[in-house]
Amino acid sequence: MKEPEFEVQPSCADVTVHNSISVAEARSAIQNQITPLRDQETVAIRSALGRYLACDCQSRLDVPSHTNSAMDGYALLGRDLPSEGVKSYEVIDTVTAGNISRKTVKAGQCVRIMTGGSMPAGTDTVVMQEQVQVMDDGLVRIDDRHRVGQNVRHIGEDIARDSVVFNEGRKLSAADVGVLASLGVAELRVKRRPRVAFFSTGDELRSMGDQLEEGQVYDSNRYTLYSMLTTAGAEVLDMGVIKDDKEALEEAFDSASKMADVVITSGGVSVGEADYTKEILERLGKMDFWSLAMKPGRPLTFGKIGNALFFGLPGNPVAVMLTYMQFVEPALRYFSSGEWPKLLLLKARSEAKLKKKPGRFEYVRGILSYDDEGDLTVRPSGTQGSGVLTSMSRSNCLVLLNEEINVVEPGDTVTVQPYDVVL
Ligand code: AMP
Ligand code: MG
Repeated sequence: MKEPEFEVQPSCADVTVHNSISVAEARSAIQNQITPLRDQETVAIRSALGRYLACDCQSRLDVPSHTNSAMDGYALLGRDLPSEGVKSYEVIDTVTAGNISRKTVKAGQCVRIMTGGSMPAGTDTVVMQEQVQVMDDGLVRIDDRHRVGQNVRHIGEDIARDSVVFNEGRKLSAADVGVLASLGVAELRVKRRPRVAFFSTGDELRSMGDQLEEGQVYDSNRYTLYSMLTTAGAEVLDMGVIKDDKEALEEAFDSASKMADVVITSGGVSVGEADYTKEILERLGKMDFWSLAMKPGRPLTFGKIGNALFFGLPGNPVAVMLTYMQFVEPALRYFSSGEWPKLLLLKARSEAKLKKKPGRFEYVRGILSYDDEGDLTVRPSGTQGSGVLTSMSRSNCLVLLNEEINVVEPGDTVTVQPYDVVL
């Protein structure tokens, strides 16, 4: 009698699983579902760091507000500088920052001036104090190596009155906050933060303080997610752990989607017995995709429930962080800025041989460092299993191995995405 044929199901061991889409396709599918936030609020300038401007920001002032000296020195008329040799000048006044001179400077005269001091009438040039000779009789001597107009900061040179300083959607840096302060802005209109509800799923998950029985694990995903979401400036709604129970999950999906702009779950997206995410998403909302040609992170499920975006992240802790970084974090930025961020990517020399399957995007947790010549090199941060969270915390970058790559030989150049700026 003939043996029945041995058939297997598609799985994550396959290079391209049936129905899986590419990382680039996933990115545009997510982008297509987002309507950037319009709601605004007013914040004090001290709370503006990391917030997104809700409107264009126009300057009501000139910065600097007056033409002033960039140096400690002597202000004079540029046309009165010696064209050759050395000339002597009478010092008729002193100006410090914040004060003005009421004198008008004429040929043969100058004013002692400090950095930031307003240029006295008639002057247009400053000679550094180190480059003059002060004589016993109080005259100063200046030689012929100077340029008309040197060492002067002109009114409006940094920012002209009525010009647009920052555009709507800009994420404010510390320097931006300083610029706004220099314009006298005490409060500003920013986008409200995106609200993100998240919970973990799994019967095996325990909370801190509980004793672990055989087969149980502490819930770590909620803590990595909480940390990443707060760093991204989201308003977080931590909904705890939900058991692998269809009704409880459905209720959690439903209430989360009513409270938040974005719902994030972890776990329950594989094809195991108790993996209900896909099924519930399809019932309550609309599923866009559920499988990506990437590793780790293949079973990322994405869709919408009502107005809320839904990200069903995998359960494995490394896959959670990775899919968050590649898709959720950029989506949150898109919500606020209306732009999908272009991440900083670097080139580095691989110290190790890296094997991968062509046809899918693979992310290796790496340690980026400088070699003796000062060139960037990268090596894997240890065992790359998607449950090995220490491989993530030891790493400071991701090595991005795109679909076309089969193998990386030691010495080959690879692309890395750093997530820590200090090596
Ligand atoms: P799942 O996607 O639910 O099949 O989970 C895949 C793996 O990730 C399992 O080993 C889970 O125990 C683990 N896992 C799921 N959720 C969490 C969590 N919140 N914290 C730590 N490990 C988790
Ligand atoms: Mg599970």
